[in-house]
Amino acid sequence: MSAITFCGGTVVLEGRLLAGAEVEVSAGRIAAIRERPTSAAGAVDLDGGYLTPGFLDLHVHGGDGSDFMDGTPDAFRTACRAHARHGTTSLLPTCTVASHEQHLAFLNLCREMKAQDTGGARVIGAHFYGPYFAHEARGAHPAAGIRPPVPAEYEQYLAFADAITTATVAPELPGAEEFVRACRAKGLRVTTGHSHATFEQMEAAVGWGVQHIDHVWCAMSDRARLRQSQTYPMRGGVLEATLYFDELTTEIIADGKHLQRELLLLAYKCKGPDRLALVSDCSRALDMPDGPYVIGPLDGGEPFRKADGVGLLPSGVALASSVVGMDHCVRTFQKLTGVPLETVVRMASLTPARIAGVDRDLGSIAVGKRADLLVLDPELNVRTVYRDGHRIWVAGA
Ligand SMILES: [Zn+2]
Ligand SMILES: [Zn+2]
Repeated sequence: MSAITFCGGTVVLEGRLLAGAEVEVSAGRIAAIRERPTSAAGAVDLDGGYLTPGFLDLHVHGGDGSDFMDGTPDAFRTACRAHARHGTTSLLPTCTVASHEQHLAFLNLCREMKAQDTGGARVIGAHFYGPYFAHEARGAHPAAGIRPPVPAEYEQYLAFADAITTATVAPELPGAEEFVRACRAKGLRVTTGHSHATFEQMEAAVGWGVQHIDHVWCAMSDRARLRQSQTYPMRGGVLEATLYFDELTTEIIADGKHLQRELLLLAYKCKGPDRLALVSDCSRALDMPDGPYVIGPLDGGEPFRKADGVGLLPSGVALASSVVGMDHCVRTFQKLTGVPLETVVRMASLTPARIAGVDRDLGSIAVGKRADLLVLDPELNVRTVYRDGHRIWVAGA
């Protein structure tokens, strides 16, 4: 494979911007970063824009009409290609609450697609999400499929451990501790989400090996929610534990619809850019017109409506995941918080790569890493996407 050289713009490195630098890619990896260009013939001109690492999305359900729960390789490819257009070069296909058979089919597809070129974002491994949620924190997931973890069932899921990166559980469910320990024994990362656990239950869960919290502020207990079921003194919930424990990383939906600026800033202040990842939590409605859709499998998923740049549940009040890609989240987080670009990019690339355990190979522009690269224009719109040094998408082509 021939070498590619990028120059004529600003290179977004792990902790800094390097204007006028040159990056050389060879055999699918970053071969050199030079402060001064060598004016290589045939170099890719960044045209005053940015060269950034490709984004890694830890929490994404689908795009361009397809959901990872649709049960077909074509649906996987469609969603992976859709997210590549928005700068995501690696992702964790994330399931929804569904039937046992649908979960097995999803895991089987994750294993199959992990070994293939999707033509878009690379599949790292499944985010096994649901059915082990708390009923009262189910959000946009169907109530019927929610259940506590039982070994006879989850051992069948853990037979796919090679294709799972992370698994979510609400720690207040009976059997949660055994599930967390079984996942950790298989080398999986464990996440808490859709939970109304108390702070004390979260403290115990950290001891079992829970490392990460799904979409901070969303579908979780906090002081005010827990107060409804008790008298005094007030107690903390999943939210307070997320902000408190340095052992916990978390993720945030920065689509500008789920959370106001102050909640982005507060999570950023408490967790810092190395413990807070941007996620899209995007549904199949990405790049689709406004109208009715289903989150999760067409057979048994929850209906919602795309309107006003977000997914709305029939109530019109609660949200049913985002409808945007990571590029939108990066632009929105940067605009609302004023955090420097290199730091926001890190929260969409190196930080999630570290959380997923793939930062040795992915997540930043560093010599030896895979050449997953984005050319962004000065307004941070995606112009060109490279995965493993191959150009997989060009805007307007
Ligand atoms: Zn969720
Ligand atoms: Zn989700």
